[in-house]
Amino acid sequence: MSDKISLKIEGHSQETAVREIIGICLKRGAVLCDVLPDENYVLSRADESEKNISVFTVISFSGLCGEKTYSHIKNPQKDSRGNMTDAVKLGFYHLFTELFGRKLPWGAQTGIRPALLASKRLAVMSEAETVTALMREFEISREKAELAVNVAINENKLLKKYPRRGISVYVGIPFCPTRCLYCSFVSLPLNKQKKNVEPYVEYLIKETAYAGELIRNEGVTVDSLYIGGGTPTSLNEKQLEKLLCGIEKAFDIQNMYEYTIEAGRADTINEDKLKIISEYTPDNVRISINPQTLNDSVLEKIGRNHTSKQFTDAFSAARRIGFKNINCDVIAGLPTETPEMFESSLKRLILLNPENITMHTMCVKRAARLKSDDLDFSADTAAAEAVASGHRLLDGAGYVPYYMYRQKDTLGGLENTGYARRGKEGIYNVYMMDDISSVIGLGAGAVTKLINDKTNYIERIYNYKDPWEYIKGFDEILKRKKIKL
Ligand code: SF4
Repeated sequence: MSDKISLKIEGHSQETAVREIIGICLKRGAVLCDVLPDENYVLSRADESEKNISVFTVISFSGLCGEKTYSHIKNPQKDSRGNMTDAVKLGFYHLFTELFGRKLPWGAQTGIRPALLASKRLAVMSEAETVTALMREFEISREKAELAVNVAINENKLLKKYPRRGISVYVGIPFCPTRCLYCSFVSLPLNKQKKNVEPYVEYLIKETAYAGELIRNEGVTVDSLYIGGGTPTSLNEKQLEKLLCGIEKAFDIQNMYEYTIEAGRADTINEDKLKIISEYTPDNVRISINPQTLNDSVLEKIGRNHTSKQFTDAFSAARRIGFKNINCDVIAGLPTETPEMFESSLKRLILLNPENITMHTMCVKRAARLKSDDLDFSADTAAAEAVASGHRLLDGAGYVPYYMYRQKDTLGGLENTGYARRGKEGIYNVYMMDDISSVIGLGAGAVTKLINDKTNYIERIYNYKDPWEYIKGFDEILKRKKIKL
């Protein structure tokens, strides 16, 4: 079976909307055509009148075929494009649920920032009305509508507490010891990059110094700084120290709201590196030590190259050294991990009492799903169960959800949610999620995003992805960074 199905559109131009809902429901891309084949296709046709949009949808897929007409009453609060987008997605979704007997937790909502939908409605509605509106407009489940409202409320509180003063900075280290099965980041295995790491760090420090000077000259405040990747602690002690020292020289780190460093994988962490981090960062530094799961067989399956014991040892070492804000990422829906295994892993993690727990959902590239011609929903169902139990456990343990996003190709179209103890939330995450703050991206694969406050236009400046290209094209990178902040 091809990883694309044929798509014919008539009477509207919402191709992207139909593609998105097909992607989430049928886990396939779509290719536009004029003449439909005999099978594996979708037809989406719309007729618009003053108050209604009538959508006729046909789905032929995985041996099933059906058609349905859905009548959408236009929402006077939305423009004509917004109404058409909702209508064609809902038209498709209704037929999908009938044909395949499945409802999705986020209904016909395909956007990556569901909390933003809640936030807009909360400006004019009560919490209860917003929940009802999300359920009615997009057929989102009550649990997810309530989650979106909760996240929006917490986000808004954070943005009041930490109003944007200037910009944020992202520093990328594109190396990891091995590549995890599900990785979608810029990350190269260390053993194949050994000769590049040292020069990479040198150039990164130069770019950091350049950005620091630019920021100082413009008199702009750095609100938050995030060192991610890859895995920053893939660097050896000397390289890590040089980099953190370079960052300390370039920016006023004591005046930032927040400084975060990912120490992602336990197989890259030791006491010396933790001490170096502690020495060159502010007292309130956030550090991420990510188990993803505490089940060793699953860790092995996903290529993490470390055990749960290595994770708990790294966590204890970080506590001993004095880190007071630790984030731990977990992933629901990992291969071979049942919802029960996920739940017991999360319970063990909660007992360690990290200040932040970020719960992701497993992403599976569409091509990897095409093992058979049948649509298999079992992994989506298991992930949905795991995510639901995760929300219950984290709520019950007193963590608050404060940022959330959805990614393409997550199982069941499910969400990633950042939970934290009150007062320990990561403002960088909220700024990035809602495009609140411009960000200067440093290092291979980093993207600088400049937000024009007047027009909301976002200009993006890309660094080369490959570390070697980054080094070779360094002058060009600096040229691109001659910007007005
Ligand atoms: S640790 Fe993160 S960045 Fe590195 S390979 Fe795994 S998923 Fe990718």
